[in-house]
Amino acid sequence: MDAYQRALALPFATNTQMYQTLSQLLKYPSVFDGSLVGQGIPYGQATVDALNALLSLGAAEGFEAVNLDNHVGYLQYGSHEEYIGVLCHLDVVPAGNYWTHQPFDGVILEDRIVGRGALDNKGPAVASFYALKALKDSGLPLNRSIRLIFGLNEETGSKCVAHYNLTQKPPVLGFTPDAEFPVIYAEKGITSFKLKENFHRSRSLNEIELLSLNGGTAVNMVPDTCEAQLNLNPAEGHGLEILKAAIADFEKHHPVSISWDAPEHVDNVSYPVTLILKGTSAHASTPEAGHNAVSYMMSFLGHLPLGDGDMGQAIKAYNKLIGLEYYGEGLGMGLSDEPSGKLTLNVGQVHMDIDGLMLHINVRFPVTYTGQDVYNDEVKARVASVGWTLEEGRAVAPIVHQRDGVLVKTLMEVYRAHTGDAQAEPISIGGGTYARSIPGIVAFGPLFSHSQDTMHQADEHITKSDFDQLVRIYADAMLRLTEA
Ligand SMILES: [Zn+2]
Repeated sequence: MDAYQRALALPFATNTQMYQTLSQLLKYPSVFDGSLVGQGIPYGQATVDALNALLSLGAAEGFEAVNLDNHVGYLQYGSHEEYIGVLCHLDVVPAGNYWTHQPFDGVILEDRIVGRGALDNKGPAVASFYALKALKDSGLPLNRSIRLIFGLNEETGSKCVAHYNLTQKPPVLGFTPDAEFPVIYAEKGITSFKLKENFHRSRSLNEIELLSLNGGTAVNMVPDTCEAQLNLNPAEGHGLEILKAAIADFEKHHPVSISWDAPEHVDNVSYPVTLILKGTSAHASTPEAGHNAVSYMMSFLGHLPLGDGDMGQAIKAYNKLIGLEYYGEGLGMGLSDEPSGKLTLNVGQVHMDIDGLMLHINVRFPVTYTGQDVYNDEVKARVASVGWTLEEGRAVAPIVHQRDGVLVKTLMEVYRAHTGDAQAEPISIGGGTYARSIPGIVAFGPLFSHSQDTMHQADEHITKSDFDQLVRIYADAMLRLTEA
């Protein structure tokens, strides 16, 4: 019997029992709530209730069950000092709107289980629990302990695992079922910075005058909207005709739309116009998946006769140093390496008015570089050359594991055996997963290439077939890692 067949032959609990457990756990609305922090409940009562429910199930199975000060808890099978770690979390993001099922009822349908957390991350936590129970019930002797770690603060900062790391040794090997398959062996570094300029209030009276510019709500999202306030001065020319023609031309050549709204006006009296550019949102770790409304607006404004005042100069500088690209090359931070590809950059927010300019930018840098490489001398020189100042942010270090190291290799073997996907290769991403919070672990599932990703969305769910496969994959992974 090979390792794959051995895993399939483990004495798994019935499907009904596993779905019921998940359904019960989904009923805790374990959204972050800081109001009880003074009473020793750092992330909310429901997060602790969910943790204690799973810990008592584990204790009933004979696992060692530990709650570390309501920050994080674990269930351990085995008494070897070396352990395999499986890092899950039981906190969830708020339900949001547009659900067709109740988000906290633990709804079991014909083919799926629906609820906030079904995928992210209670479903994988329960799958890991039943994987471990099957290993225990099999009576197989294990060379290492296996520990399921349940954090309560993944969605709002992972302070739970920082608390864990204060008193607990890290696992020898491990994974977190909180991203996608197959194995994420490299995660880029992350940093955010601001570019600023204080204006000297030099205006230029043109037929079109820019008054202010605003776009974006968060640095880690590609902004889908950017708004510009303009003033048209009919006395200086045909501003409205120029504007309308420029919009029509720009929309013809770019995948964005621009709407404008101007009040009825009187000839020869200046009047305001609001321009709204709509792009496409995406996560900052995949800027190529969106159309950055700020960058397109800057490009559009670059086509208008705005003159050489402060704002006109700032737009020229933007189009020279950033433009429509997202690899940081114009800024001088075009880093790239073999394991993880190019640095990517996202202008998440802009604010510009008569007083000055502020750009908030998020960067995902390749795994062989550091924050110092991002903020290099060339970048500083280019930023200074246009009169901007650079405010560096903290850099979150990249993580990278050996592609042919024992952890990545073992998990890839498990994945290939269970899915039949022999071509699969470990992947590198720009996003940050829960794997960053504990040394020595990688992200491994739960999303298959065929799965619908409903994490953080309405009607979040896990299909029963995906869930069943997760239980077997995670049991096999835990077992092989104890022998690796
Ligand atoms: Zn998660």
